[in-house]
Order: sequence, then C-alpha cells, then structure tokens
Amino acid sequence: MVFGRHVNRYYLKYGPMLLLGIISLMLVDYFQLKIPELYGMLLDGVNYGVVKIDGKEVAFDMDFVLVRLCEPMLVVIFVMLVGRFLWRVCFFGSAIKMSTDLRRRMFGHCKELSVEYYQVNKVGNLMSLFTNDLETIQECFGDGVLMMFDALLLGGLALFKMARMNIFLMLLSLVPMALLLLVSTVVGKYMMKKWDARQAAFSALSDFSQESFSGIAVIKAFVKEFKELWAFKRLSKNNENANVEFTKASTLLHILVTLFVESVMCIIFGYGGYLVHEGVFSSGELLTFSGYFTSVIWPIMAISQLIDMHSRGTASLKRVSELLDAEINVRDREGVSEIDNIRGDIEFRNLTFRYPDGDYDALSDVSFKIEAGENVGIIGKTGSGKTTLVDLILRVYNVPDGTLFIDGHDVNDIPIDTVRRFSAYVPQDNFLFSDTIESNIAFAVDEYGTADVERAAALADVHGNISEFKEGYSTVLGERGVTVSGGQKQRISIARAIMKDASILILDDSVSAVDTDTERVIISNLKENRRGKTTILIAHRVSTIENMDKIIYVDDGRVTAVGTHTELLHSCEDYRNMVELQRLEDEKGGNS
Ligand code: ADP
Repeated sequence: MVFGRHVNRYYLKYGPMLLLGIISLMLVDYFQLKIPELYGMLLDGVNYGVVKIDGKEVAFDMDFVLVRLCEPMLVVIFVMLVGRFLWRVCFFGSAIKMSTDLRRRMFGHCKELSVEYYQVNKVGNLMSLFTNDLETIQECFGDGVLMMFDALLLGGLALFKMARMNIFLMLLSLVPMALLLLVSTVVGKYMMKKWDARQAAFSALSDFSQESFSGIAVIKAFVKEFKELWAFKRLSKNNENANVEFTKASTLLHILVTLFVESVMCIIFGYGGYLVHEGVFSSGELLTFSGYFTSVIWPIMAISQLIDMHSRGTASLKRVSELLDAEINVRDREGVSEIDNIRGDIEFRNLTFRYPDGDYDALSDVSFKIEAGENVGIIGKTGSGKTTLVDLILRVYNVPDGTLFIDGHDVNDIPIDTVRRFSAYVPQDNFLFSDTIESNIAFAVDEYGTADVERAAALADVHGNISEFKEGYSTVLGERGVTVSGGQKQRISIARAIMKDASILILDDSVSAVDTDTERVIISNLKENRRGKTTILIAHRVSTIENMDKIIYVDDGRVTAVGTHTELLHSCEDYRNMVELQRLEDEKGGNS
C-alpha cells in the first residue's frame, strides 16, 4: 500500500469498491482453509476406515465421500471462483480508476506549469513519471490493499486454526517466520535504494533517447552518430547495472523466503511426525496442519512483498508529488477582472525584468507605446531582449506591477487567459503537431470552414505549396512536422496565427526561412488584412520591417529608439550602422 496526500483521497473515493473486494477476499480465505480439512478427512478415512468429526467417529463410505467430501469441495470451488473474480475486479478496477484520475490531474497540472518549469525539468523525466512511476503507484494501490488484507485474513485465520490443533507446533513454526519478517524488512530498505537508482537510470536513458530523436537532424549533419551511440551505450549500461542490482536484492529476498519456509516444513514434519507416532495427531490431522501452514506461506511472503512494494510505491509517489506540488508561479492574482475585448494598445512603462534564474536584467527601464492597429517592427542584435519583450506581453513570465499596460489596464489586473485569447503568436521555434495541415492551421479556432483555412494559408503564401501535396490540406505532418521544409513550416505557423484573427499578432523572427519576395507578399497581406489590429514583427533583416508604422530598436536590454525607418535613420546611430552593414552584405551577396 502507498499513502500520501495525493493518493489518500482515493482510498475514500473507492472505499465501497475496496470494501466489496475485502468481503469477497474474506469469503475466499475462509473457504480456502476448508480444503486441508477435507484432505485430512480423506487420508484418515483411507487409513482408519472411520473419520472423527466433533469427537464422534463416522464410517468412511460412499455416502461420506459424496456428502462430506465431494459436495463441500464443489461449494468451496464455486465460492473461490466467484470470490476471486470479484476481488480482482474490485481491487484492480479501483487501482486503474485511481491511476487514470491521478494521470489526468498530473496532466492538468503540467498544463498550468510555466515555461520555466519545462526549462529545468526534461521531457524524458516527465515521461517516466507518467509511465513507470504511475504504474508502480497503481500496483501498490490495487495489489497493496489486496496483499495486506489477504495477509491479515488468511494468515490470521490459518494461524488460529493451527493454534487450535497444537499451539506449541504453531509457535515453533512461527520462529523462522518471525526471522523472515525481520530479514525482509532490512532487505526491503536496501531494495528501496536500489529501486530509486533504477528509476533514476531509466529517466536518464529516456531523457537521452528523447533528445537524440528530436535532434536527429543535427546529429546526422555533424556526423556524430557514433558519439551518440557511445553515450547511449554508457547510459544503457548504467540502466542495466541498476536493474541487475535491483534484481540481485530481490532474488536474495526470494531465496531467504524459500529457505525459511522449507525450514518450517522440516519442523512441522519432524515434530508433527513425532506427534503422530505418539498418537496425539492422526496422519490426516498432520496433513491438515501442514495444509494450514501452506496457506500461511503466501501471507508471510505477501508481507515481505508488501514491504518491497511499499518502498517502491513511496519513492514513485514522492516523484509524482514533486510534480503535483510544483508551484504554478505564473498565475492570475486575486481579484483580476475580466474584460470583454482587447483592442491592442500596448504600453511598457519603465519596465525592468530579470529571468527568475537570471543573474542580470534582460530588460532595463523599457518604455514605449504601441497604439491599437499599428504595425510594429522590433529589431536589435541577438540576445538584446526582443523575445523577452513579446514573452512579457503574452505573460509567459511574471511582470512587475505598473510596468506593462494593455488597453490602459495593468497586465496584472487582466486574466492571463484573456490576454492570450486576444493574441496570436508565432514563436521562433515554431511547432507543428503530428496532424493534418488543416488541423494545424485551424488549431486555434473551434468552428471553421475549409475556405477559412485556405484563406489563412493564402495570406501566409503557403496555399500553393499545400495544394501541390497529393493529399492537400489533409496531408498528415510527421513528428514535429518533418515532412515540410523550414520555410513551409514557418508559413503554416503564420497561417495558424492569421486564422485566429486576434487583436494582437506577434511574429518572432517568423519569416527568416523564406525568401525576400515571399516575405514581402506575407507582410503586405498582413497589413492589408489586419487593418485596425496590432501586428508586432520581430526581425533580423531591416528590409522586413522598414515599412512598418513604428520600429523599436532594442540594444542590450534597453529600447534606445522608437520611430519610423526614416526617423530612426536620423536619430539612432546603431540603427543607421545596422542598415549600412546589411546593405553592404546584400551588395556583397548580390555581386558574388
Ligand atoms: P533576442 O530575442 O533579442 O535574441 P532574448 O529576449 O531571447 O533575446 O534574450 C535576452 C537575454 O535574456 C539574453 O541575454 C538571454 O541569454 C537571456 N535569456 C533568455 N531566456 C532566458 C531564460 N529563460 N532564462 C534566463 N535568461 C534568459
């Protein structure tokens, strides 16, 4: 069994189902212990021709065999059959329901966690929480309750019956069993450590595999397959070693169990044989006694397995709890008020921002205004803070009070969902789902027609390419959209954002993989079709943004100039230098 804040509620929720399982188990256990008694009567009947029942001797004849042995045996078999089916349904069924519920909660929590969490916690590690750890918790919940009650009920009842027959022999058989319990507790603790190491090794291996598959193109391009293979081999070896260590500990426990159990059998047949010789026991009674003991073996082994399972379950639950308890640090504050609409006015007012794990300010004293409906370009060197600016508009990180305003409201006073609902975003690392192109483009909207999807694709200048695919818009994209080129991928992502028709559209370096002509078409389409709506374009090339209503020049976390292309050429030396440099580069490129 496994206990903790995140699972205790399920013992209550599935209490009635578990109770029905326990009742079925009680019936099965009670009837199971009738079998050694029937065997004992059979042996005594065959040996002596009579069987002692409640002190009276009854003749061992055909009637006895049918009425006293066969009929009860059939009842026992029937009850055990139905009972075993029922407790399986109850224990395993509630465990499956519990893990489904827990998985849903984990996934729900994952959705709420900020981007920051995923920067620290790797996907492979998260995947192993959803597979290995959840499976272990499920096993502990179902098998654990079953084993605990079975051990208590069957073990208790069998020991009681053994004590009634001969208390001294019962106590004698318990001595090695008590030792077994002690040893298995110690070995169990050792096993828990080995289990932790095994889980950690598996996590490392799955992290590595996941990253290798995602970065396969880079690995191949740099001909680093051998290096990757070698690193994989090393991690795989670690995983193997951790598994072997765990299996060694578990085999040791198994050997000890067998050793102790067999030694008890020696005691029972040795001292029990003496009792038969002395006439205290009949041979049938010795058989019944050893039958009872056989029934005790499983509960005692179950106790040691329970200790082992509890150790594994506790370790897994600890890891799952760390996820469920991970703080959702980007969330609405108390008292935010819903607004019906966002027009698209954005104002940064003396904003200084440092990443939660950063050592320096990524943005310093940033102030500028964007009016609703403006087309704005953001430009600056790599690492100057452009992405950080738009991430703050989308509230990916927490923003200091009184520094960022949308439509005149402090962004902290508006629900985060509302800000994002009225915004569309094409991130730098654009991501396409393994789904049809149509579903990818229509991702943001619930109701749409084919014409809407085609229009968005046309505005992103990708309709022609899609139409050339054999399946057209029904083409299913592979993992991370590998079946389309970089430029097509960017344009499908732009189409997805256009389709949302949001008040604020942000494109983060989203036309870098398309040629200048296509770029010009896309930008002119955006201007034409997004009149009255705010469009923000982060770019590296001046040509991308030179015709924008406003250009924001970012340098080392500071906004050093805001204005049109002509204004910036006059007022901002860095911008002028950048324009000049890019012109020279273009000329050089053109000449060569
Ligand atoms: P740009 O988009 O202009 O290339 P960014 O906004 O991505 O620049 O980055 C601005 C600065 O913030 C850089 O120095 C970068 O290293 C840092 N930075 C970006 N993301 C993070 C992060 N998640 N944690 C800490 N620092 C970051």
